[in-house]
Amino acid sequence: MFTKILIANRGEIACRIITTAKKLGIKTVAIYSDADANAKHTQLADEAYHIGPAPVADSYLQGDTIIDTALKSGAQAIHPGYGFLSENVNFVDRVTQAGLIFIGPSAQAMATMGLKNTAKALMAESGVPIVPGYHGNNQNADFLAEQAHTIGYPILIKARAGGGGKGMRLVHDPNEFQWALESAQREALSSFGDAHCLIEKYITHPRHIEIQVFGDSHGNIVHFFERDCSLQRRYQKVIEEAPAPNMPHEVRTAMGTAAINAARAIGYVGAGTVEFIVDASNPLRTDGFWFMEMNTRLQVEHPVSELITGYDFVELQLRVAAGEPLPCSQDDLTIDGWAFEARLYAEDVPKGFLPATGTLQYLSYPEQHTAFTNSAIRIDSGVAQGDNISPWYDPMIAKVIAHGPNRETALNRLRQTLANCHVLGCTTNIDFLHTLTTHNGFQQGAVDTGLIKRDMEQLITQLPPCSMTIAIASVAGLGLLTHAPDNNDPWSTLTGWRAWGHAQHSITLSMGNNHYNRTITLLGKNTYEVQGKDKSLQFKILSTFDNTVQVSFDQKIFWVKVVHNTDKVAVFKEGKTHEFTLPTTLGVHNQPVDTGDNILSPMPGLIRLVHVSPEDTVAKNTPLLVLEAMKMEHTLYAPRDGKVAEILVNQGDQVGNGVTLIRLAPNHD
Ligand code: ADP
Ligand code: ADP
Ligand code: MG
Repeated sequence: MFTKILIANRGEIACRIITTAKKLGIKTVAIYSDADANAKHTQLADEAYHIGPAPVADSYLQGDTIIDTALKSGAQAIHPGYGFLSENVNFVDRVTQAGLIFIGPSAQAMATMGLKNTAKALMAESGVPIVPGYHGNNQNADFLAEQAHTIGYPILIKARAGGGGKGMRLVHDPNEFQWALESAQREALSSFGDAHCLIEKYITHPRHIEIQVFGDSHGNIVHFFERDCSLQRRYQKVIEEAPAPNMPHEVRTAMGTAAINAARAIGYVGAGTVEFIVDASNPLRTDGFWFMEMNTRLQVEHPVSELITGYDFVELQLRVAAGEPLPCSQDDLTIDGWAFEARLYAEDVPKGFLPATGTLQYLSYPEQHTAFTNSAIRIDSGVAQGDNISPWYDPMIAKVIAHGPNRETALNRLRQTLANCHVLGCTTNIDFLHTLTTHNGFQQGAVDTGLIKRDMEQLITQLPPCSMTIAIASVAGLGLLTHAPDNNDPWSTLTGWRAWGHAQHSITLSMGNNHYNRTITLLGKNTYEVQGKDKSLQFKILSTFDNTVQVSFDQKIFWVKVVHNTDKVAVFKEGKTHEFTLPTTLGVHNQPVDTGDNILSPMPGLIRLVHVSPEDTVAKNTPLLVLEAMKMEHTLYAPRDGKVAEILVNQGDQVGNGVTLIRLAPNHD
């Protein structure tokens, strides 16, 4: 076994790998960019080396610098994690040439599977069913359009080097083919440095089911069953589970065998995932699944498979890379219970899952969780409170993972856990994830890749805060909660009373364009009356501890979590986050009131395309422009019917966050 390894990654996966290395007594070397000098992975490792400025091209993608660092530090092997250089054949070659071990498959296996077109060709040869389509070399646009016609619409354009849902476009209408192809090629070029695309038949109503495989250097290959990753947005996974719901035994066996055949065809060593698109009609059939691609690395969602099989996949990766045989044969493996993983991201769901940035002013998880090791509640995260979610890297905050003896219990645990994950400082998808766990079809295991899109309206419906939530936020916003009894200390109980008497205080809280005026009267020790427009509430604060407030109201006692900083109050209640903006000392709301006339840049980025011209009349949801940020194209749509008054940017402009891009003519009605 190795005595020291370098981890060529950052964030969650770097921390995940370090945890297992520590367990095995292996020393770890981290690398970090300027932006990550204080990052969790930098702190956790035994040694950390600075490798360059924040942009990934200058740091985490600098293969030669990373290899030099490994040699300098005395590491024997490099673990690439996922993303970054993990599927870069050239990097694997150079690692090996430097006399180091790459913890992953051979460059040759990776090269075959790394491109979706060569992978499909080989799979077809090996008897693994593939999705019909064109995966040849001709990239002439007219030729590809003809191929799309022959395959039959709807079709999917895919970048052969694609990953993470990038460089992929669904086309229903032949008239949109050209535009979609150009857009996919642009995104593919900027993300992967390779514009080459293939065309696939779009399978309507599919499920995404993938098989985890492992090979060793002694010729053994086993699979660790399947994961269902059908809950997706923009072709990216949102919640994954293992095993797959309603999976017949014979289909599991057939898919497992196909995956092992795929791995065997390339002499695969290490952890890999064979992804299949599956006809979601019930019941699943042995002739109803097709190979999509193989990911030649550890997958983001690997923990759900670890939880149901009891193995540590990073440990297996390290053992196999060190030349040991796999510790188990196929017959040793069984499925224990059920597991879910939800990807907690800094992103704005109603705005089309736009990545968000910000400082994690507050970050808390339920107490009874483990990190990076198996348990009923496991939270794998590469960030800590106070860290910045920057535009440089993936905006993942945590993977929230739950295990249970059966699907229902595991899903209930996931829901509970999400309800108790609290973040203040940047927009997140927590509320959305929580709502998703209450979705009827999902609860029943009726999943398919279109579920989220179809039920989007329902999944993002935000109920306005209830009067109790506003009342508690008002008391907190006035700084009164700090006077409430902490640990039943009688002296702190008195402070609030003396200072406040029967005085009345008013506050205005804002949430978006809604403003809530409240008048608060202290009636007795920690007993408040909060008066709104036409309703008043009386309640008593029984205790506050660690931001958790115990409230007595109307013969009932309940708990809420309240976090208060200089300009915001957040109330976390029953899985929902209610974030209010406090008035500034000048009495002005510090959020500019958006009248809906201005289209603002939701994040820093590059203007790729402007679809409209001044004076154009646009309907609600008309595409206005395309912003490229974090290597993805984001289309900004008209928020309402109207007329374009002014366009303040040009194609190619770099814009900051919150900059006005387009002005619509004000509505006079
Ligand atoms: P998976 O099934 O493992 O999610 P994807 O290809 O969808 O497979 O996701 C992997 C993606 O994770 C990469 O394409 C990249 O966008 C993203 N990624 C890369 N590096 C990191 C990282 N260090 N932390 C989090 N995400 C990353
Ligand atoms: P990536 O490398 O970005 O992960 P994949 O080929 O794995 O690309 O596809 C990502 C997702 O896109 C799949 O999980 C599935 O939801 C959807 N998808 C891919 N191919 C098809 C297809 N032929 N028909 C329908 N959906 C597909
Ligand atoms: Mg994929």
